[in-house]
Parts: sequence; C-alpha cells; structure tokens
Amino acid sequence: MSFKTTCPYCGVGCGIEITRTGSVLKLTGDKESPVNQGMLCIKGQTLLETVGTDDDRLLNPSLGSWEKTIQAIAQIFSTTPKHQIALYISGQMLMEDFYVAKKFANAYGIDNLESNSRLCMYSTVEAHKRAYGADIVPVSFDDIYQAQTIFIIGSNTADCHPIVFNHIKKSKAFVVCVDVYESTTAQKSDLFIQVEPGKDMDIINNLPNQPWFKDKKVLSIYSQGITQSTDATDKVNALINVHIVTGNINKPGCGVLSLTGQCNAMGGREIGIKTSDLTATEFFSSNQIKTLWVMATNPAHSMINYRQFNTLIVSDFTKTLTTKDADIVLPACSWSEKTGHIKNSERRYLQQNAFLPPAGKSKPDWKIICLVAKELGLDGFDYQSADDIWKQMNIDDSWQPNIQVREELVEIKTPHRVEHNSVNNIRLLTQWHSMSRTGKSETLNKMTQRPDKVVSIHHISNTNFFKNKKVELDKYSKQPCFKG
Ligand code: SF4
Repeated sequence: MSFKTTCPYCGVGCGIEITRTGSVLKLTGDKESPVNQGMLCIKGQTLLETVGTDDDRLLNPSLGSWEKTIQAIAQIFSTTPKHQIALYISGQMLMEDFYVAKKFANAYGIDNLESNSRLCMYSTVEAHKRAYGADIVPVSFDDIYQAQTIFIIGSNTADCHPIVFNHIKKSKAFVVCVDVYESTTAQKSDLFIQVEPGKDMDIINNLPNQPWFKDKKVLSIYSQGITQSTDATDKVNALINVHIVTGNINKPGCGVLSLTGQCNAMGGREIGIKTSDLTATEFFSSNQIKTLWVMATNPAHSMINYRQFNTLIVSDFTKTLTTKDADIVLPACSWSEKTGHIKNSERRYLQQNAFLPPAGKSKPDWKIICLVAKELGLDGFDYQSADDIWKQMNIDDSWQPNIQVREELVEIKTPHRVEHNSVNNIRLLTQWHSMSRTGKSETLNKMTQRPDKVVSIHHISNTNFFKNKKVELDKYSKQPCFKG
C-alpha cells in the first residue's frame, strides 16, 4: 500500500511517497510531483526518523482529560477581556487549521490572531501590493530553467530550500549570490558578491549595469536576508523596480521570487492571517496580552523578546521550550497523522495525507480549536473531517504559473541606509524550526555541526527570564539556535 503526501519542512513543498509493507514504512520522493520530481533533501529523506512516539511526544492534555482541559480554556477565555487574548499560530499548520482559527477568532471577537510567518513574509506582501496592486507571485520554479541568470540575494538556498537549489544547479543559468557571509549557496554559485550589512540596496540599484543582468533573462530569488532586514519592503520593491525598468518581468525566465520558509507560510499569507490589533512581536513587547494560545511554534526559543503571560496555552506535537513554560498543553497530531492542504512558495496547493493514526490522545489543530469554540457556545464548528472544512473553504486549487502582473514603479524612500550593529543569523541544511522535529532524527543530529562563528544569543537573554522558573533548560539551551 502506498500513500502520497508532502514534506512538512520548507516552502518548496516536495512530494513524498510512503510505502507500507506489513508494519514497515519506506519513504521516497514522489517522482510524479511537479515540484521535486522524486528529489528530496536530507531533511525530507529522514522524515520517518521523526514520526511515532518518543519521550518528548505529547500524548495527553495536561489537565488529564480533553473535557477538563477544554473547559479550563473556555473558563479562562470567558473571564479575560477579549483584547487581552491572542492566538499565535504558525506556517506549520494546514489551510484547514488556519481557516478554523480565523473563523474562531472572528466568531469570538479576538482581534489578536497572528501567524509566525508574518515575521518573515509581510515585507514581501506589502511590496507586492505596492508594485502589482495585489499580493501576486508572478513566477514559478519552472522559470528557473528558462532564466539565463539567477540572482540570489539574502538567501542560503542551498541549505534552506535545497531542492530549489538542485533545480538551479541543473539549469544552465549563470548563478550569482549576494550575501553578508560565504554561505553554502555562495560557495556553489558562479559568482559570489559579499556585502556589508545594509549595503544590499546599492547592489540592487546597480544591477542594470552588470553584464550578467543587462540584456539577460533574469530570475531574482530572495528570502529572509532581505525580508527580515531593515527597510525590507523597500528592498523588495527596489528589486521589482529594477526588473520592471529592464523589462525583466512578465516573461518566461524573468521576475522576482521570494522563497517561503515554512511549508504553509504562503497559506497563512493567503488566508489573511494578520492581526487587526497588535502584531506578533507586540504580543510579546506590550503588556496588553494576558492570555496567549500558541499553536505549532516555539516562541520561547525563537522570539527574542519572549515574555511571561498570565496564562500560556500551547498546542504542539512535542515538548519544546515553550510547552515547558505553558500553563496548559494540548497534544496536537504530528505531520504523519494530519490530512489537509498547504501552499508552497510558487503558490501551488499541495496535500498532506495522514499515514499513521493520531498518537495517544492527540488531535488535529482544527479539531482542538473547534472543541474550544463549541465549549464557548459558538455555532458552526461541527466539522467531522478536514475534508468538510476544505469543502466549506470552497477554494479553486487549480494552479497557473506565470501570472501577468501590473508593472508600477514604487518610490524607494530609504535607498542608502547604513546598518550599524546589525545581527545576522545563518541556517543549516540539517536542522529546522527550533529543531522540534529535526532534533528527533539521529541522522540529522549526527550530520549537524555548529559552525565556529555561531553564537546562540537569545538563549542567553532568556536565561534571565527563566532563572526563577522550574524549567529544565539544559537540553534545550545546549541546542544551537537555528530557526527554520
Ligand atoms: S527541500 Fe524542503 S520540502 Fe523538499 S525535502 Fe527538503 S525540506 Fe522538504
């Protein structure tokens, strides 16, 4: 028997085939997938080492039974002013989870609903709106094979989106990499241009003068090195501007592509998961929020201004630094136990299909949200399956590459900002998303080397926060601080 599903790690969205013979599972890349044609990076290849149960797997609600735990959450929600409640969700969740979370927030009147993917993607969303009139992705992975030059800026594609980089190396394009350090991508590119932090705008502005850009079909690719930098929206618009003035847009092999980090970061962006009150970072920096429900993400590890809340509720499939700090922990199903849809960097809808039953008493995220909604007396949360939700979402999931976009130059207001005291982080091929899943793979852990120059800054800063709490930091604080 075989099942098809999709890798839960990065925004490439590689297709996977699981074959079951008796109780033995085998995982291979799906040769029929239009995204990866059977290729998988080492994280995808080792996914079976991360499924099932281990000592850290969350199997039961922390208050004993689902009934008691859901009643306790409803009691907390109903006695907390709504502007003091926030839901912090994640690009690891499926479209169906997002839809139900948003429906619940709307129905109950919670303005503070935010996805961790906004941290890395909203500069691109805003830049697209300014240039194209809407958040449109006008290129696809197919353009890689039609480009003459691939210009990679602020992205260690070889380690973070390895199958996209495999496509790039299989193409005949001349590959240029711009970064502040010599990443794996830099080492494997035809030309590496090292920039000082903050000088990337100068490089972008000078692109039309470069022989490898001028009169070539160019696909520009970027990720967090641009989107999480100072003046990120302007930098994305500057890059789009250059493509517009050189006619390098709306043609095969031409355009600008942002690589999304998490498997369904694009889905959160698509469904409009964005707070109408505070932003995600403000959940942590302002004292307004007293009750925070975190789902499928680990802000105690990854949010530098992480702070304590009156009540912290966490849904996850495994123990993390954040679940250690939680008042209530809800066991969520893991990737191998969930069914639903995600949307990759080129905006394809892809399916994740469960091939294992839920471990212990764990439940899919959408089902946990529905239980809380129903306990609070809300109607419309009686879904029996993810498919019920998908049908109600009524989404056209057909995929069209190379959408034509409006070409409107955007005024750049911050063209030459020099960054002092900037901090740059790096990513590794073998780890992902605070290691909550990849840390379970023996193969990946053996392959993981902490580079000499890496410092885990925010664990040091968090030490003050955690010093009075009975939290076992040892295991987690020894982990390098790599965020997916
Ligand atoms: S490239 Fe991304 S989606 Fe593909 S196997 Fe690797 S981690 Fe998974």
